[in-house]
Amino acid sequence: MNVKITSFEQLKKSFKLTKEEEAYSGGNNSLPVSITSHFLSLIDENDSGDPLRKQVFPTVNEEVEEAMEYIDPLAEVDHSITSRLVHRYKSRVAFLTTDICPMYCRHCFRRRFTGNMVGPAKKDEIREAAEYVGNHKEVTEILLTGGDLLTLSNSQLDFMIKTFREKAPSLIIRICTRMVITAPERIEEELLSIFMKYNSAPFYLLTQINHPRELCKESIEAISKFINMGIPAMNQTVMLKGVNDSVDIQEELANKLLFNRIKPYYVFQGDLVSGTSHLRVNLGDTIKIEKELRKRVSGLAMPAFVMDLPQGGGKVPLTDCYVKEHIGKKWIIETLDGEKREYPDTY
Ligand code: SF4
Repeated sequence: MNVKITSFEQLKKSFKLTKEEEAYSGGNNSLPVSITSHFLSLIDENDSGDPLRKQVFPTVNEEVEEAMEYIDPLAEVDHSITSRLVHRYKSRVAFLTTDICPMYCRHCFRRRFTGNMVGPAKKDEIREAAEYVGNHKEVTEILLTGGDLLTLSNSQLDFMIKTFREKAPSLIIRICTRMVITAPERIEEELLSIFMKYNSAPFYLLTQINHPRELCKESIEAISKFINMGIPAMNQTVMLKGVNDSVDIQEELANKLLFNRIKPYYVFQGDLVSGTSHLRVNLGDTIKIEKELRKRVSGLAMPAFVMDLPQGGGKVPLTDCYVKEHIGKKWIIETLDGEKREYPDTY
């Protein structure tokens, strides 16, 4: 289907919706409804349980707010230096370049900010943030995030990168975007030339690919353009119920990413974001999937499973404990197959 969906009304007219989708009213903290024509073309219209559809078709479940859910689960507002700059970890900051995305993911953890239609950061906001980063030498990395960074025009992007580079030439810049899979046609020569122009320090491409089918010919080509000019690509997957909460899917995704030179970096346990409980995977199930996946894929293909703790508690790894006991001068460690091995203390 070669159309772009820009409203729920249009979605209703274009698709046969399920009862839960039909009942969506756009209530509580809702994100806008927008689905790119490229992403739509990957969805199987005849499958109401399609894992790509689940990420972008709203349902009435979004209007349910569970206990312990928050509109800002990572307490980004408490760690904000300016309206756009978040400084939560000592060595890195996140700059919220825009609240606009070409497509809105129903699991978005930043829904307090995303899709409010405020638009790109103004020049003064960019200068203010760059000044801060330049004055804080402990900051070695910046995440240019949003919203989606690549919704900025090329001239807006050029100004932003130039301003940060002038104040902090050795800052590592993470290009955080889903547009390589939502609108791969955006990755054109003029855009890429901006990164080449300001390469006094490394750029990294950070993508969010949640299901192997998102990695189609067009998106692989788009990501390859970054890699071919020396920008490594890393992927962050969000664990989502009915989308990728199985070892088989995670295995296929990890291997497909690695084969296409994209490092599987993180798999995130769903944050406690208001209105997303229907997409959240039980923590115990996530840990079981991590354990099984570790047996199946190589070290290179294995992402780190992590959780961003509520109320700004930071990131912690999610893994089973293999170091079982310390007896006398020996440690008892379990193999991935459940056998035991001993390892002595060293003095
Ligand atoms: S692309 Fe990112 S910021 Fe935009 S809706 Fe999806 S998860 Fe949220």
